[in-house]
Amino acid sequence: MADPSPTPRKAVIVGAGPVGCLAAISLAKTGWNVDIYEGRPDMRLPSSKAAAQQRSINLAISARGIAAIEAIQPSAADRFLKAVIPMRGRMIHHVDGQQESQTYDRDGQCINSIGRGFMNEDLLTEALALPNVCAFFNHRVLSVDFDGRTMAVRDSDTGKEIEVPFDFCVGADGSYSIIRRQLMRVVRMDYQQEYIPHDYLELKMPAGPPTDIGGDPTYLLDPNHLHIWPRHTFMLIALPNKDKTFTCTLFAPTADFDLLRTPEAIIEWFSTNFPDALPLIGEKALLDDFARNPRSSLMTIKAKPYHYKDRAILLGDAAHAMVPFYGQGLNCGLEDVRVLDILLREEAVDPDISVPGEVDERLARALDRYSAGRHEDLVSICELAMDNYVEMRHSVVTLAYLFRKTLDNV
Ligand code: FAD
Repeated sequence: MADPSPTPRKAVIVGAGPVGCLAAISLAKTGWNVDIYEGRPDMRLPSSKAAAQQRSINLAISARGIAAIEAIQPSAADRFLKAVIPMRGRMIHHVDGQQESQTYDRDGQCINSIGRGFMNEDLLTEALALPNVCAFFNHRVLSVDFDGRTMAVRDSDTGKEIEVPFDFCVGADGSYSIIRRQLMRVVRMDYQQEYIPHDYLELKMPAGPPTDIGGDPTYLLDPNHLHIWPRHTFMLIALPNKDKTFTCTLFAPTADFDLLRTPEAIIEWFSTNFPDALPLIGEKALLDDFARNPRSSLMTIKAKPYHYKDRAILLGDAAHAMVPFYGQGLNCGLEDVRVLDILLREEAVDPDISVPGEVDERLARALDRYSAGRHEDLVSICELAMDNYVEMRHSVVTLAYLFRKTLDNV
């Protein structure tokens, strides 16, 4: 006799970043039992928030990312749209201190600055509010046996290694993905990883003083622009935060960073190249950030295919890390979830239908269509991101660019 109430199959999501959390919501809503395994502690704990301050605290979310969240969890999209700071154009800061606004769109379309931690925590909270989603923090996935449908996981609280069974595995574990590396053992994956010769370092620009006694702090720069100090081979950018501060990111060749070894060299270099930004950031804060914040590398990852049979798929940076100059890395990762959600529905994948030891042909077909249909778009956006680095640090201040922009606006 058939089981009257079959147990839904188990999807394991590796990584509780924004992509993993949105994927958890998407799969749980279509009936899967979802377990999230995250190597780090719960990001909602105060101790985790302090550590997270070292990573870029804001990012630009565009129509692509908002549409994806809207499709999966409309209430979260509404909240994010209320929390963003719209950036309607670039503000170019010339060396002589002159500022020049270049709007993105004639009809007022914009990109939006949003707190990375706020968005990630919100999506995690939404996922965990669903009755069929659980999360295991401090649980790092070590290896996967895709054919046996089990993974080895280390619980860093107890130091024990456990075996976790799964039906479907989603690798949303970022650019150094273990799931991608494990997939390479069973899939003929074409894979390319390319570092650029530039590093980045994050700096904080504080809020300005209130205009009236007892009033609120103010922004030191126009908050409705993405600020850029293009200097041809390197650049500084700044995105606004809700607390009236800006997060600045310095992108420069490793060799240039290597020259900035002493406080004097750093101040001298900033006063030559970013004379208007230096007093806004403040010399002490600048030196503190240089001493404290990590200097990180940037890379592009291209892979194909993204899946194995009916049991694993890579989403987000695990599948396509890209340089951040087009502001599309996360937007694209969120879109991955939307595209997968559509395909799983189109193929009528039913998590209640158990297929022990067999291949779920519908799920396999959905994943196959995902890899085949998504690859060209992902490669294009990785390349656009690379091209935009030259645009942001160099082309925006060349005569040819300004001439073309003038024609666009005629
Ligand atoms: P991640 O956010 O990297 O999350 C992966 C998670 O997996 C982590 O929590 C990690 O702890 C966990 N994990 C890893 N390995 C394991 C394991 N073995 N077991 C268990 N858990 C594991 N994108 C934009 O769209 N707009 C921007 O403006 C933008 N700005 C950026 C600026 C900078 C400087 C950088 C570097 C990137 C920027 N990006 C931007 C890109 C964006 O940050 C990434 O695309 C996004 O964070 C990817 O999300 P994710 O969920 O795929 O991966």
